[in-house]
Amino acid sequence: MASVKTIDWRSDTVTRPCKAMRAAMAVAEVGDDVYGEDPTVNRLEALAAETAGTEAALFAASGAQSNLLALMAHCQRGDEYIVGQQAHAYRFEGGGAAVLGSIQPQPLDFEPDGTLSLERIAGAIKPDDVHFARTTLVCLENTHNGLALPPDYLERAAQFCRERGLRLHLDGARVFNAAVLQRTPVANLTRHCDSISICLSKGLGAPVGSVLCGDRALIARARRWRKVLGGGMRQAGILAAGGIYALENNIERLADDHDNAAFLARGLGRIPGLRVDFCPAQTNMVFVDLEADDAARLPDFLKTRNIVISDGQRLRLVAHLDIDRQDAETTVQAFADFFTATK
Ligand SMILES: *Cc1c(COP(=O)(O)O)cnc(C)c1O
Repeated sequence: MASVKTIDWRSDTVTRPCKAMRAAMAVAEVGDDVYGEDPTVNRLEALAAETAGTEAALFAASGAQSNLLALMAHCQRGDEYIVGQQAHAYRFEGGGAAVLGSIQPQPLDFEPDGTLSLERIAGAIKPDDVHFARTTLVCLENTHNGLALPPDYLERAAQFCRERGLRLHLDGARVFNAAVLQRTPVANLTRHCDSISICLSKGLGAPVGSVLCGDRALIARARRWRKVLGGGMRQAGILAAGGIYALENNIERLADDHDNAAFLARGLGRIPGLRVDFCPAQTNMVFVDLEADDAARLPDFLKTRNIVISDGQRLRLVAHLDIDRQDAETTVQAFADFFTATK
């Protein structure tokens, strides 16, 4: 019996490795990566560095680990980093920078376009005074809530940081989505930054891992912290092979996810009473605001159609490589049925 497909919109982290990726992983050459002897990890790190336009890169277990390695490699105990109030590297990583790095966050509200205002950053930089933490680093996110940052913003932000002696980290978990949407090589979005963290396990479809990209000195410090944090993996080439496959095969196809997200947004937008948030800078995410009683019933209704969404009044629906156009059509129809037939 053919099993019924589950259409899972919760996140692009739910993708499973395809057959060809699994085959590449199965035959990966491996060695002990803590000795620097895993040829497949070394190949992934070289490929990531070349793609991001940096001197070096480091394979990490997750995006949270990769961001933390960057923060700890840039900052000393008693330093602070300026970061978005809703940024993953502040709000969604268990306070790791403070807990494990003795680094203080200075959160600021994001602007509606996903940037941090450079004026507000300037206002948050602490003077050199014993009362204050030392402001050392600015952390940006691209994409933020699926929004690709305006093309010239990163350049201006980088210049701003240089002028003030701050370093710039980019949480580029989904930076390839931004590059594909803006039809630009990803290096145009990363070369301004002192470090970049990129997730291989989201839209790119690898099962595990992120890469941290930066100059040799920074990556050497991050490598040391990775070992301290228990992230020194041995024959990790099996995982790295999935990452190489992702970088070689799954970047351009992110455009399909963006098309499917736009299709979904259009379809849901035609349903009376649904408030859909989707704009031209959006990549693979659609946000929908629901009334409380609809929000309480919708997930269970969709489950009967084998469609999975997160709970909450502000729905985030994420397109990814295990969702095709037919699935998006099925989803629009299911929403339409809920909001008309069941009322
Ligand atoms: C997913 C994500 C990360 C890291 O997530 P992990 O689950 O730790 O791999 C970091 N930043 C952003 C913006 C993310 O969306």
